[in-house]
Amino acid sequence: MDFKYSGIILNKKDVGEADRIYTIFTLEAGKIRVLGKGVRRPNAKLAGHLEPLTCAEIFVAKGKGMGKITGSIVTDNLVGLKADLDSLSNIFYSFGILEKIISEQEEDREVFYLLLEYLQSAEKISVKTADKCKKDILMLGFLFKLLAEAGYCFEVEKCVLCGKKLKLEKNYFSAARSGILCGSCAKEEGGKIVIENESIKFIRIFLKNKIENLVKLSANRKNINNLKMVMKEFLEWIVK
Ligand SMILES: [Zn+2]
Repeated sequence: MDFKYSGIILNKKDVGEADRIYTIFTLEAGKIRVLGKGVRRPNAKLAGHLEPLTCAEIFVAKGKGMGKITGSIVTDNLVGLKADLDSLSNIFYSFGILEKIISEQEEDREVFYLLLEYLQSAEKISVKTADKCKKDILMLGFLFKLLAEAGYCFEVEKCVLCGKKLKLEKNYFSAARSGILCGSCAKEEGGKIVIENESIKFIRIFLKNKIENLVKLSANRKNINNLKMVMKEFLEWIVK
């Protein structure tokens, strides 16, 4: 039986003599892995419609074992993104995280649309600007929203231990506590890193706004480095 999916192709991997396994994030079934039979043969036409970072309608025949791709119609080739190296590295980094934290075959329309909006917004700014900070802050916005959507949300208004409203002082992020510690609570805690006040403000903005509005944000390298450090610390704890 044939199934039709609206999908975003995340990844491909060569297997056997001429086949590939594709990882696709679909609207209908979440993340799926399907087989492209014979797609590496010189005259195989299907491969051109299955490149990673492409939005497509994908047809899959299901029998025993892994579904087989029988056809693909590209709906958005995202050529602007594919031509921009800074955006590409951000997007494949994000795809890697998505693959790690999202399980297979679980429909999640919110995450699908979040990813689609991120790709469309990233394409818009990649053709408009060469400012890497703008591209990085958009990626961080997507990642913090993705984690929140996947159930890894953290409190950004209050100290996770004493519950007092966070002040503009030296605050710390604790992945194990999934939150921010105020200066006085942090004294007795290990496994914490400094989270800048600017970073706290950015995360609040990420969580309250749609991705398409995050393209207006400007950030400097220092903001981005601290946010990346917090993200890295949190991800290491999540995938542990
Ligand atoms: Zn506290």
